[in-house]
Amino acid sequence: MLKEQISVKEAKSIILSQTYETEEEEIIFSQSLGRYTSREIKSPFNIPNFDNSAMDGFAVKSSILSSASPENPVKLKIVDEIWAGKIPKVSISSENCVKIYTGAIVPEGADAIVRKEDVSVDGDMALFKSPVEKGYDIRKEGEEIKKGEIVINKGYKITSSAIGLLASLMIKKIRVFRKPKVLIIATGSELIDIEESFSYGKIVNSNSYALISMTSEYGAEPVNGGIVKDSRQSLKECFKKIDMADVVITTGGVSVGDYDLVKDVFGELGVNWHFWKVRMRPGHPVAFGTYQKKLFFALPGNPVSAMVTYDQFVLPAIKKMLGVENYQRKTLYAIVTDDIKKKADRTHFLRGKFYTKDGQLYVDVFPNQSSSAISSMINSNCYVILEEGNTRIKRGEKALIELFES
Ligand code: AMP
Ligand code: MG
Repeated sequence: MLKEQISVKEAKSIILSQTYETEEEEIIFSQSLGRYTSREIKSPFNIPNFDNSAMDGFAVKSSILSSASPENPVKLKIVDEIWAGKIPKVSISSENCVKIYTGAIVPEGADAIVRKEDVSVDGDMALFKSPVEKGYDIRKEGEEIKKGEIVINKGYKITSSAIGLLASLMIKKIRVFRKPKVLIIATGSELIDIEESFSYGKIVNSNSYALISMTSEYGAEPVNGGIVKDSRQSLKECFKKIDMADVVITTGGVSVGDYDLVKDVFGELGVNWHFWKVRMRPGHPVAFGTYQKKLFFALPGNPVSAMVTYDQFVLPAIKKMLGVENYQRKTLYAIVTDDIKKKADRTHFLRGKFYTKDGQLYVDVFPNQSSSAISSMINSNCYVILEEGNTRIKRGEKALIELFES
C-alpha cells in the first residue's frame, strides 16, 4: 500500500523493514580496508604470545631486591643477554640476573624488569639501588588479548589499524559483506552529460557523479546508469538494466509535473511503491519501492534534494546491507549563531558548518538554502535538523546537528 506525506522517521523505518544484509565473501585481509565484516573475528592466540620485557634493562627475581638502597645496593651476576627473538637458556636465581631487551622473552625465575638507566654495571656484575615491584615492566602473556576473544565485531568497517591487528594475529583471510551494487540513473530530457558540448538551456547531469561518489564513499559499489529522457519508452528501456543491482536510484521526474513519469512507469513494470512524498525539506517528492529483493529510491532532481534524501534514506539502507548495527549518523547539539524560522509542517535539513570556540560548539547556517545550490553542501559539514512542529530557534539557542560522514 502506498503511503503519502509521511514523516522522515516513518520513511526510514519502512525502508529498513525491507532491507536485508548482502551475502558474505572471503577476501585477503590486506585488501579489506573500508569493507564491513560479516562475522565477528576471534583471536587464534594470546597477545602477547609469551611474557616479555617492556623495556631495555635487567630481568631479576624481585624478592631479592627488597632491601636494595643506594647505601646498600644488591649485586647480581649478569649471566646472559637476551634480545627479542632469542630463546633464553638460563633461569634466574637469587644470585644472578640477565640483560634483556624490549620484546624479549622473560627467562624462567625472573618476575620483574629493572630499567637499564636504574642499574650500574661493573664488569659482569649489576648493581641495584632500589627495590622493584613484582611484575614490573613485564608484558604478561594474554594481557592484551586472550585466545578466543572477539577482536573485531560483525559490521565493523575495517581500518588500517584493524589490518595491522589481523596481520599480528596471522589472520590472512576474512569474511565481509558483498558490496551492494547501486545503479544510479539520472532522468530528465533537459540533461546533458559532462562529455557533451555545452548547449544553452540544458542542465549538466551532476547528480549521477555526486551519488556515484557517495556510494563508493559509503562502502557500496556504484554503477552508472547514465541519463534517461522523460518518456515512457526511455524509462521502460532503462528498466532492463536493473538485473545486476541490489539498489536502484533514479533522480528527477518524481514530482507532480506532466513529465514526472518515474513512479508511474516503474509501477507498471512491477515496482511496489511503499511511500511517496515525505514531510521534509529539501527532498519532499521522494519515493521508495521494492521489486523482488531490490530497493528502489526515486529521489528528486534538484542536486541538494538528491543528496539529502540519499543521506537520509539510501545511506541507512546501505549500512544495514553491510551489517552495521547503528546506522544513525552522529548527532550533537550546537548553538545557532542566527535566528532560524520555518513552517511547522516539515522537518528541515539545513546545511551548516559547526565549529568549537572557547570550548562551546556553534553552528553557522549557510545563507543560501536553495535545494539547487550545491555550494550549500560543499561549504557545510553538518545538517541542522529542525523537526516538524518546531517553528523557530533563536540565536544563542541549541539546535540538533547531524554530522556528515567522515
Ligand atoms: P525534477 O525533480 O525532475 O523536477 O528536477 C528538478 C530540478 O533539478 C530541475 O531544475 C532539473 O533540471 C534539476 N535536475 C534534475 N536532474 C538533475 C541532474 N541529474 N543533475 C543536475 N540537476 C538536475
Ligand atoms: Mg525533471
